[in-house]
Amino acid sequence: MDRPEDIDLEAIAYDKGALVKYRPLNGCEARIVGLGDSAIITIDPEAIKERKRFSLAHEIGHWMQDRGTQAHACKKSDIGPQRSAGNTRESEANRFASQLLMPDYLFKPLCAKKPLTFVTAAELAKRFRTSLTATAIKLVQTGNSPGMVVCYRNRKFDWMTPGPDVPKALQRTWPMLDEHTQAHELFAGNLSGDATRPQLIDADCWIDEDNAADYTLTEHAIMVAADTVVTLLWWHDESQIRDCDDRHTS
Ligand SMILES: [Zn+2]
Repeated sequence: MDRPEDIDLEAIAYDKGALVKYRPLNGCEARIVGLGDSAIITIDPEAIKERKRFSLAHEIGHWMQDRGTQAHACKKSDIGPQRSAGNTRESEANRFASQLLMPDYLFKPLCAKKPLTFVTAAELAKRFRTSLTATAIKLVQTGNSPGMVVCYRNRKFDWMTPGPDVPKALQRTWPMLDEHTQAHELFAGNLSGDATRPQLIDADCWIDEDNAADYTLTEHAIMVAADTVVTLLWWHDESQIRDCDDRHTS
C-alpha cells in the first residue's frame, strides 16, 4: 500500500479469513466469533464512520493475536486509541488498530515538520479516515515534536497521552482546568467547538511544575462531543523540556 487511501480494512479482514457485517449489537460495540480459520466480525452500524473503522481494526487485531475458536464482545469502553497502554488483550488490540489504520511508514513522512495542532491532525485524519482524537494521539506518539494529548470530560480530567520525549515531571496536569485554557473556554461556551485556533499560552496553565510560568506552550483544543474536550499541547519552544531533563539528570 502506497497511500493512506489504499488501506481497505474489509479486504484485509477477508484476506485473513474474517467476514465483516454491520448489525446492531446488544451491550457491545463490536464482536468477533472465530471458528478454526474463519471468523465473523460484527460492527454496530450506529457509530460514526471513523469509529467503525477503528472498531473493525481492533477486531482484526484480536483475530491476528489469537486465531482459532474464540468469541469476543468488545464494549465501547474497551475500544479506543487512548486505551493503548499496558498488556491487556484490549490494549494490544487498540495498539494494533492504530498501527493498521496509520502505519508508521505512511504516517511519518506525511507528518514530518508539521505543527503539532489539530490543523495538522484534521489534514491527516481526512486522508487516513481516522478520528481527530486517534490522529492526534498518533501525532504525539510519533514524536516529531514534544507534545501531549489531554482529554477532559464534563470539565474533569479524563486521560492523557504523552509523547516519548515528554519528561515524567511534566506529565501531571491540573485536576481542574485553568480559566485561561481553550478547553475551559469551550466548556464555558465562550468559544465555538469547531472554530478554535492554536494559541500560545503560559505553560503553568497546563503544567504543574515549579518553574512552569517561565515557559510557553502551544495549545489547540477542540470539542469532540458535547461533554468532551481534547487538547493538543505542543512544546514548539522546547526549552522547558530541556531544562526539565537537565534538572533531573544533574
Ligand atoms: Zn476488544
